[in-house]
Amino acid sequence: MAIPSFSLEKKTAVVTGASSGIGRAIALALAGLGASVGCIDLEGSDLDGVVNEIRSTGGSATSISADVTRADDMVAAVAFVEGKFGPLSLAVNAAGIANAAPAESMAVEQWKKVLDVDLTGVFLSCQAEGNAMLRNGGGAIVNIASMSATIANRGLVQAHYNAAKAGVVQLGKSLAWEWASRGIRVNSVSPGYTNTPMTKRPEQASAMAGYANDTPLGRNAEPEDIAGPVAFLLSDAASFVTGTDLLVDGGFVIW
Ligand code: NAP
Repeated sequence: MAIPSFSLEKKTAVVTGASSGIGRAIALALAGLGASVGCIDLEGSDLDGVVNEIRSTGGSATSISADVTRADDMVAAVAFVEGKFGPLSLAVNAAGIANAAPAESMAVEQWKKVLDVDLTGVFLSCQAEGNAMLRNGGGAIVNIASMSATIANRGLVQAHYNAAKAGVVQLGKSLAWEWASRGIRVNSVSPGYTNTPMTKRPEQASAMAGYANDTPLGRNAEPEDIAGPVAFLLSDAASFVTGTDLLVDGGFVIW
């Protein structure tokens, strides 16, 4: 039997949250492995920057402004990318937000906003991408969850975020089952603390050095640390992997 390929050559991909942090590193990595990448993010974000960076290294990319909480935006984004690069077969959903408030006083609007972007946004992204892949005969989706799906982060009051991320893991398992017989694999990757704009927010920034000490590998992740495992799950090398959640946390949750 031939060794399965890690290449993403000639594949069409979309990445949400592609202009910043983890999504950006993933978009660059997928393009480096040969995929044509539709980079999706909110209007006003640095989409030109990531697309120019991909093109400057010989890769193929296009930018699309879309809000993952809007179903019509995501359907239009997928259609635009397919019109430019051909049938979609790969997708990574990395768009997300985070903030903090004690559970006993969190306004319901704050709860709903985080659930809307971090869980409903992933569902609507998967729906648009999955419908394209069902038409195209299959594909692979990776959702970016978090180790907060399985632990409560010591010192961080973010019940809404943690609940949303647990939902993303279970959503992945549910879609994996629903779409398995039609050729779509769905998995999630759960990063540990990663150096991005998200972890520069006040309630986290000062704690990042402590998190590094609490990590068996002795540091926090860089966005590029997350990109490799995502690329593996998208590739044919992971052809028998679906419905799983891959922790990429430097061992943080083993202690
Ligand atoms: P980031 O640098 O803030 O990137 C998130 C991106 O998502 C931003 O470009 C953001 O745009 C975009 N976004 C937010 N709301 C959106 C919406 N409604 N529609 C489309 N795009 C939207 O954060 P990151 O750290 O790379 O996070 C990426 C993913 O990893 C998130 O799902 C996060 O929860 C997860 N994660 C991060 C860590 C970590 O330690 N950094 C750990 C575990 C999991 P704006 O900047 O314009 O808001």
